[in-house]
Amino acid sequence: MSDTVTLTIDGQEITVSAEATILEAAAQLGIDIPVICYHPHLTANGLCRVCSVDAGGRLQAAACVTQCRQGMQVETNSDAVRRGRRTILELLASTVDLEEAPEILALVAAYSAEINRFSGAKRESPVYDDNPFYLRDYNQCVNCWRCVQVCAEDAQYAFALNFDGRGFHTTIGTYQNNGMMDTTCVFCGQCVGVCPTGALKPKRQAMLEEGVSPDEVASNQNKGKRKGEKRSWRKFSDSKI
Ligand code: SF4
Repeated sequence: MSDTVTLTIDGQEITVSAEATILEAAAQLGIDIPVICYHPHLTANGLCRVCSVDAGGRLQAAACVTQCRQGMQVETNSDAVRRGRRTILELLASTVDLEEAPEILALVAAYSAEINRFSGAKRESPVYDDNPFYLRDYNQCVNCWRCVQVCAEDAQYAFALNFDGRGFHTTIGTYQNNGMMDTTCVFCGQCVGVCPTGALKPKRQAMLEEGVSPDEVASNQNKGKRKGEKRSWRKFSDSKI
């Protein structure tokens, strides 16, 4: 079997490794396919489907996980592909607070997605303030899985996070919904670094955004919140230990 395959992407022929995904081959041609859950340093899972392309008549093939095949004809920007992406973005906007996800909002604008097209239930979650370093606001989570992967085999091997719940109520969670201080989290911050939305946020950043003075931020920075303890700077009314 050949180590390379030749295919056509948006009318341009390219020869790539037989292991290459459509996303990687398109990037070699300078064709930008939008992504949300994909991160170049993490295992791709094809969860968000926004990178879906028409791969030889197969619509909605996630480019981040679909391997190139010999003779494949790929369309990355046809009307049907764009319509699919627009609908995905509209569904996402109808359930998740995207206010602090500029890259996703840029896609919403680029695909003329109507954020009010679907009027179903919004995701509702407490804001978890259970450690000295970062907040978890799953109202803003797009379930991209990046934080879970970076916490697991892709980097840290801490396995503090996983999916929790089912169907519409699927969210990221901890074992038995324990607070972060009671998990295997080592507070490396990598989950915060790969999160594409405001769902995971450094506590210092949150405090500054809420108008807390830098001096007060500095005096609070190493303090964890204990059960029942109130912070003067907190504005989240529904936070949970
Ligand atoms: S918390 Fe952030 S990184 Fe984790 S799944 Fe949600 S959006 Fe993705």
